[in-house]
Order: sequence, then structure tokens, then C-alpha cells
Amino acid sequence: MTLINVVNLAYLLAAVLFIIGLKRLSSPATARSGNRMGATGMLIAVVVTLLDREVLDYTQIAGGVIVGAIVGATLARTIKMTAMPQMVAIFNGLGGGASALVASGEFHKLTSDAADVGTDVGVTIMLGTFIGAVTFSGSFIAFGKLQDIVTGRAISSPIIKTLNPILFLTALGLGGFMVVLLAEGSASMSEVMPLFLALVVVSLALGILLVMPIGGADMPVVIALLNSYSGLAAAAAGFVLDNMVLIISGSLVGASGFILTRIMCIAMNRSIWNVMFGAFGAQATGPDQAGAEGRQAQSTTAEDSSIVLAYAKSVIFVPGYGLAAAQAQHQVKELADLLQSKGVEVRHAIHPVAGRMPGHMNVLLAEADVPYDQLFAMEDINDDFDRTDVAVVVGANDVTNPVSRDVPDSPIYGMPILNVDRARNIIFIKRSLSPGFAGIDNPLFYNPKTRMYFADARRALTDLVNAIKEL
Ligand code: NDP
Repeated sequence: MTLINVVNLAYLLAAVLFIIGLKRLSSPATARSGNRMGATGMLIAVVVTLLDREVLDYTQIAGGVIVGAIVGATLARTIKMTAMPQMVAIFNGLGGGASALVASGEFHKLTSDAADVGTDVGVTIMLGTFIGAVTFSGSFIAFGKLQDIVTGRAISSPIIKTLNPILFLTALGLGGFMVVLLAEGSASMSEVMPLFLALVVVSLALGILLVMPIGGADMPVVIALLNSYSGLAAAAAGFVLDNMVLIISGSLVGASGFILTRIMCIAMNRSIWNVMFGAFGAQATGPDQAGAEGRQAQSTTAEDSSIVLAYAKSVIFVPGYGLAAAQAQHQVKELADLLQSKGVEVRHAIHPVAGRMPGHMNVLLAEADVPYDQLFAMEDINDDFDRTDVAVVVGANDVTNPVSRDVPDSPIYGMPILNVDRARNIIFIKRSLSPGFAGIDNPLFYNPKTRMYFADARRALTDLVNAIKEL
């Protein structure tokens, strides 16, 4: 068997591992092995590429691998669960930056050699540079917003709205012009390099201005989209380098990032256009409105709620962003275990966009060792609420808001929600009547079946556990 056959077979194996690995990531039970499969596929791809290509300096490569492995392993071990979206944002940004560097390196090499550059290679170099640079700067702004370094507010600015299409068209014009120059073979390095640098600067500026106007809580959607871009940039780099496995892995990342973006948009009943350009969350209508309508929320205490819970037959917990903010996942598990030991049927209802990143609640509850068979996706549990004695909402809000069913002019109209309002009793754990991310009041607070338990989620759950133990 020739070397090229071995290389292609190994690439095929790597691609198969990527695809099976991705599939396995879709369930918490198989996600770890899926991750390992993907990493093994990547190791095979890297080793085989090194064997296949002319390597100028192994020392530099070894240095990169060692530094990268130490930084990656340290981050993976020490990062807090709540900071995971930020870390993904940085990884995306670095992926995009790496693809832009590969494309730039190839551009430099080809123009220095005064080589004839085919239109296809020229286009992929420009695309790799453009998409990679947009992803790089956009991802770092997303990181800054999530980390509170950059304002998390949604900004609706006419200047940005005008600048963005201008920057996009400028990048398109610069890239197209350089492709023509390169294809004609008439341009010298000194002529095209300033144009190339201008393309990089315009693309970086576009990445910043595309993400700046978007509200902080929409960042997970933006990150999924940027993840898709980083895949496209990697695929473009694969075409530039004529490397099959890079094209395949880039396309997989591009497609899966796009699918995830779509799933999140459908779960919020918003278009990607609305997420990117709608300045969602810029205006809030809070509980004052409710006061004006004279509605009264009824509050409860640990003692009263403990009786309702301990004598229930079935309880559904509905976790949301507040659970993550309070880091109360272990307390939910403790309360769930205690209720189960008293013969109560306990389940957890997971809304696809509860929290601030996809799978946020699954990850938190898995961290607390909540059994997978107690976790139910919205569509699998929604019909059971009307047969449930108590729904305990822990720091969730928008994902339970019935206005999305009943009020056509509400910003969240049409967003699928958990049918908490159909449970026989509702205990709502949150600190106040403040709205959630969407900035709108929740009529469920004033429902006669609802008791508001005003407290930090972790404190409230601990007090509930103690109160039930004292019964
Ligand atoms: P929400 O943002 O609607 O509400 C969270 C609630 O948690 C708040 O009302 C807040 O009320 C409460 N809270 C905050 N801190 C605490 C605490 N320490 N203890 C107790 N409660 C607390 O969250 P949901 O999970 O219901 O909905 C998620 C929202 O985010 C949706 O609008 C979704 O569209 C959006 N989104 C989600 C994405 C995802 O990938 N998951 C991506 C983009 C957007 P109070 O201040 O009174 O305590």
C-alpha cells in the first residue's frame, strides 16, 4: 500500500470518528465517549498530516503541542461551569484566527514566489481570511460581554447599522479585486500586501461591530453561529492547503454550529435576523406594570412549602438561569432525593433554552449527579404537568411565561414554554418579581395556584430540605 493510500485511509478513519463522536455528544450518557472519539480522530489526523507533509521544524511543532496541551488541560480542569460559554467563545475565536493565519501564510508564500494563483485558490484564501478574522474579533467581543468586560446591553445604533453593510461590501470588493490580481499574475507583493492588510482590518472591525449591538444573554446563539463560521474558515483553510480532513472537520463544525443556532432560534421562536439585529432585551417592562394592574402575588415560606411538597405524589422541578446563578444544583438534587425517599415521584423538566447556553441545565444537573432518567426534555414532559401535584420553578422565568401562548404582541409570543401553569400547585423560587432575560412580566407570578418563594435559590432549597426533615 502506498503512503498516499495509508494517509487517505487514516483521514477516512478520522472523519468517521468525528461523525460518530458528534452523534454521541447528543446525549449526556454518551457525551464523554463521543468527546474522546473526536479527540482520537483529531490526533490521528494531526499525526498523519505530519507524516504526509514536508515538515520544516519539528521543534516548533512540539513546542506548540506542549504549550497548547498545558493551557487546554488547565482551562478544562479549572473553568467554572457558569464560565463555559466564555471558554467556548475563546476557542472559537482562536480557531477562526488560526484559519485566517493559515490563509495569510499561504497568501504571503504565493505572492513572494510570484506564483500563478488560480481563481479557486485565491477565493479560498480571501474567504478563509475574511471569515477567520470576523470570527476572531467577534468571538472576543462575545467573550468580553459574557465576562462583563464589554457592556452586555443590546445597543441599537443607526451608525453601526449603516457601517456594517459598508464594511461587508468593502471586504467583498477588496477580496474580489485581489483574486483578480492574483489570477492575472500581474501583481507584485508590494502592491497586494496593503490591500490584504486592509481586508484583515476591515474584517476584524466587522466582527466587532456585528457582535457589539447584541445583548449579553443572546451571546450563546452568537457563539453557536460564530462556531459555525470558524468551521467554514477551517474548511476554507483545508481547500487552501489541499487537506481533505481539514475540509471535512471544518464542514462538520460549520454544519453542526449552524444546526445548533437554528435549534436555539426555534426554541425561542426568533429568527436569526432578530437575534443578530433585533437589539432584543434593550427595553424592559418589569413588574411595576403588574402593580399598576393591581395584581397580587402570594408569597410562601419554607415551612408552608415543605408541607405541600412532602405530601405530594408527584413533583416536577423546572430549573432556569437562577439555578445556575445561585449554583444550586447540588441542593436541588438533595431536595429531590429527600422527596423520593418519602415516595414522591420526582422529575426535572428541561427547556432547550433554559439558562444561558444550550444544554446549560443538563450540564449543571449532571454535575450534581442527578440521574439521567429523571431529566425530561420539554416535549416529553409537557403533557404531564396537568397530572402533577407541584411544579417547583427554580430560578426560571421566561421559559414558563404563558404570555408566549396568549399575548400575540409579546416579544416572546410563539416561544414554546413548559406548561408549569397547568400543574395543581406552583412554587416559584426567585428573589423578586423582576423579569427574566426577555424583560417582560410573568402573569404566572399572580396565578392563584402560585406561591412565590422570594429567596436566593440555594438558600431556599437548603431551607426546604431542613424544613422537610423536621416534619
Ligand atoms: P430567565 O432569564 O427568564 O429568568 C431567570 C430568573 O432567575 C430571573 O427572573 C431572576 O429573578 C432569577 N434569579 C437570578 N438569580 C437568582 C438566584 N441567585 N436565585 C434565584 N433566582 C435567581 O431564565 P430562563 O432560564 O427561564 O430563560 C432563559 C432566557 O434566556 C430565555 O429568555 C431564553 O430565550 C434566553 N436565552 C437562552 C439561551 C440558552 O442557550 N439557554 C441563549 C440565549 C438566550 P430574580 O432576579 O427575581 O431572582
